[in-house]
Amino acid sequence: MALAAGFDVGGTQIKFGLLDHKGKIIFQGNEKTPQDFQLFGQKLDQIWEKMKIQAGRRKIVAVGFGFPGIFCPEREIIIQSPNFPALDGLPLRPFLKKIFNLPFWMDNDANLAAYGEWFLGGKKKPESLVLLTLGTGVGSGIILSGEIWHGSLGFAAEIGHLTVNPEGVKCHCGNRGCLETEVSAKALVRHYLNFSTRKELQKKVVLTAKDVALLARKGDKAARKSFDRAAYFLGIALGAIINFLNPEVIVIGGGVGASGDLLLKPARQEAKKHCFQAAFKATKIRRAILGNEAGFIGAALMAWFKRTK
Ligand SMILES: [Zn+2]
Repeated sequence: MALAAGFDVGGTQIKFGLLDHKGKIIFQGNEKTPQDFQLFGQKLDQIWEKMKIQAGRRKIVAVGFGFPGIFCPEREIIIQSPNFPALDGLPLRPFLKKIFNLPFWMDNDANLAAYGEWFLGGKKKPESLVLLTLGTGVGSGIILSGEIWHGSLGFAAEIGHLTVNPEGVKCHCGNRGCLETEVSAKALVRHYLNFSTRKELQKKVVLTAKDVALLARKGDKAARKSFDRAAYFLGIALGAIINFLNPEVIVIGGGVGASGDLLLKPARQEAKKHCFQAAFKATKIRRAILGNEAGFIGAALMAWFKRTK
């Protein structure tokens, strides 16, 4: 039985795994990402040796890599990687070829997570799918007619930097009021602090979006308002996505996405106000089924598919 390997290279962690042709995980692991480039190469080499041992008598026939940052598919370079700057402008193929002596492919990590959701998310693969990963930041990927949509230079699917609040706070991308600055984990905490009275704040310690979610479930007013505010802006973005792309499915993942109906229910209601009703009704908005493994799963599946193409 043949296997495919997938790598999800993040700024802090490298997640990796071996998959069979149905997408079943045979082996998985993760390691810290060395920031020095040479050490990064050595680490990949070590992981690869480990994977080959795990594969045993089964042959690994293709490898897929997900990298953080803007990926240019034509040149196979990362144009800009805020979370792993050592990758910027590096010709990835010659670098990886020194370690991996078999067919391999690469893409942006969020694009590959979307590919994984598209491939494994239902009995029948949808014609089109948009993934939004709501966490520390907002990642996204677009699948159109079964292919990752990159745009002309690789900048497509930066939905996290769609303007939803022109008067909002400044984003690290240089814009103001991006979807990311309004619905990320940090945004939920910021909204919560804005809605709480000083007396309330003295009583409670809220450090993370998870804390806000717990309070909201207990009926805390400021926490509920915080989710409603994030949902309002998420709904605006969902409405824009529906009118713009008319996708069959929109998938919401990530740590903040996992808060479920607390966010998704009001976001759906809001989205309905911002797009054509027939398009809204036809769009399935669901939670992600793949968790933290989405990146390497998508990378391995993409490699499978490219190999057999
Ligand atoms: Zn931005």
